[in-house]
Parts: sequence; structure tokens; C-alpha cells
Amino acid sequence: MQSLKELYRIGAGPSSSHSMGPEAAAIKLKNLYPEAKFKITLCGSLALTGKGHGTDSVLKKVLGESAEITFDSARENLPHPNTMLVSVLQDGREIATHAILSVGGGRIVFQGERIAEVAEVYPLNSFEEIKRHLKEEDMSLSDYVFSVEPDMNEYLTAVWEQMKATLKEGLNADGELPGGLHVMRKAKYLWQSKHIGETEEIAENRMICAFAFAVAEQNAAGGTVVTAPTCGSCGVLPAVMYYMKKQRKFTDEQIVRALAAAGIVGNLIKTNASISGAECGCQAEIGAACSMTAAGLAELYGMDIEQVEYAAEVAMEHHLGLTCDPVNGLVQIPCIERNAVAAMRAINAVNIANFLTYTRKVSLNTIITTMYETGRDLSGRYRETSEGGLAKLYKEEK
Ligand code: SF4
Repeated sequence: MQSLKELYRIGAGPSSSHSMGPEAAAIKLKNLYPEAKFKITLCGSLALTGKGHGTDSVLKKVLGESAEITFDSARENLPHPNTMLVSVLQDGREIATHAILSVGGGRIVFQGERIAEVAEVYPLNSFEEIKRHLKEEDMSLSDYVFSVEPDMNEYLTAVWEQMKATLKEGLNADGELPGGLHVMRKAKYLWQSKHIGETEEIAENRMICAFAFAVAEQNAAGGTVVTAPTCGSCGVLPAVMYYMKKQRKFTDEQIVRALAAAGIVGNLIKTNASISGAECGCQAEIGAACSMTAAGLAELYGMDIEQVEYAAEVAMEHHLGLTCDPVNGLVQIPCIERNAVAAMRAINAVNIANFLTYTRKVSLNTIITTMYETGRDLSGRYRETSEGGLAKLYKEEK
């Protein structure tokens, strides 16, 4: 598996595959061909939801207004659901072509470049192998991360600082989100709407939802976020971790360790399945974020590796089949609320793992494979194309 730096990326929202990945591709193109002009055809999901996600504007921002961007949703036999076909022009003639794939979480692949060219730093690629290793060495998941990547403490500290900064900005912001859906920000209202006689459980729910809304709304507004594992699902992990810091008094150092543990689960999902909504639906984004958060929280509470696995497995299992159908191609409806619901589900998954310890029947490996197979079986209408589900019916209702 690759470094956790490839999983947790700091960048501008609203979409890791539709804005962050294309931005990285444009920067690479600009460096490769500083004098050239570019014709780019956005295909598949990039063609269908690229307008809403701002793919064309981010490409023009980097490559200049002379870049010609077209949308071709009819093209078939694509190497990936998020494909950009690039023609590089210099002195009036084509000097190169590239098929660039935005494979999720902000990562891009120039077709022909093997994914393995990004260094594989973790020698173990399945939870079973990692669990065996941890038991033999008497280590936790975060110990494992720091043993393989000794500089990760510094990187994850920066990630955590960014997560907190994004969350606080979102909690203080007002007004309507961009894109024309007229969705109002709700994080500040949720945060401030303490009810008289509110029980501790209701306050916990309200606060965690406020935190998840805050981060997801910042993402929808194009603010700086951390992919965890994607932009669309970036609110789940920080919401739960910030609540644990604020209300349960865990330290920043403990939370950095939890992010490391969560990162291993995210990396396993990315390596053995997918974290791309265009490839496997929202289960690959919000489901992955919930599973990561459950693992991180279980580690934060000092639960053993079997309980960590149980929590991560439960969190993913109950997102199986979750479709990606963003209204108008914007990362707003259903995405923002979905972050809040998944944050609460992660806590529930940890509680189940705690109450029912050692009764688990399904392994994390199996559930990750199941998610991938389910995602590949999903109709294209439910894989970030905005052609089915809520995206379709919402439009018909209006
Ligand atoms: S529905 Fe889920 S996968 Fe699709 S854009 Fe929204 S958060 Fe991402």
C-alpha cells in the first residue's frame, strides 16, 4: 500500500475526483508542456457532473483561458469512469495525447503509467496480514503506521490542524452555498441551537452533526479540506475526532494516532476496492469514511485489534449499496447531511463492537471485497452521473 500522504491530501473542494484530481492533472500537464495549448475532453462521470463540480473552471484556472474544454458523456469503453482525453498542441500541431484517469481521493493516473510507480511503502495489503503482524509484535494500528512511516507524525499533525481549521471556519460561516441549488449553510445554526433541557445524547448528536456539516459545507463552497478519504466524505472523520477532543478531552497527540489507524483502513479500501463514487457509488466514499472513523475511534478508546476490525467492518457493512446521485452534480444534496449521518453511524459501530466483542462473523477483508463487487454491479446511473435516484427525481419534482 502507498503512503498515508497519498490518502490524506490537503486541497480545495468540492470534489477530490472532479476538482482536486483534475487540478493535479493540469499542473502536471503545465509542467510537462509549459509552452503548449490544450484541448481536453471530459468523459464519463466527469462529463456528466463536471459542471456542477467545477471541473472545467479548475482546468482553465491552471491551464489558462485558452484551454478548450468539451464534455462528452456519450463516449464508451473508457479506461475509467473519470477519464480526461488530452490533446497537447504547439505551433498549431498536436505534439502529444494523454488519457488521464482521476481514480479517486485526488489521485490521477496518466494511462500507461503504472499505479505502482507511486511507491508502495506498506508491505502488507490485507487486514488479515496486518492483524497477524500486530499480534506477533504486540502493536496497535497506529504503532504500525509509525513503524513503517516514521515521519508520519508530523504529516498527520498538519492534517489534523487543517481539519480543525476547516471545521472552525465552517462553524462560523453563514449564507447560501454556491451552485444555484439555494442550499443554506446549517452548521452554525446546529452548533448554536442548544435546547433547554437537552440530554447529553441529543447534545452529542447535535454537536457532531454541526461539526460534520461545517466541514462538508466548507467543501461545497470550494474551501480547503483534507480528503478523508475524499472531498465529498471529508466531514465524517474530523467531526467525530473534534467532538472527542472538545467534549471527551482526548489530546491532539491521541487524535493524530487515531488518524493513523483510520488511515490504514482507508488505505486498505483504496488498495483492495475503491474510494471513488464514480467507480463504486457513495459506499466507496461515505462508507469508507465511516469505516475509517470507526477504526480511528476504536483505537482512540484503546480497543484491541479484533474490536477495531469489528467497528470498521460494521461501519462499512451498513453502507453497502449506497448510491451516488448528487443533485445537479453538486456536492451538496445528499452529500452534506450524509457526512453527519455517517459520523453518528461510526460511533454506533464502535458501540456495537464494544458490546458484542468477539461475536463478529464477517471479516473486514470480506466486507471490503463485497463493497467493491457491489459497486461494480451498480448501474452507472448511481455512480456519480446524476442520471438516476435523487438527482433525477429532485429535478422532475421541481
Ligand atoms: S453522493 Fe456520496 S459519493 Fe456522491 S458526490 Fe456525494 S458524497 Fe460523493
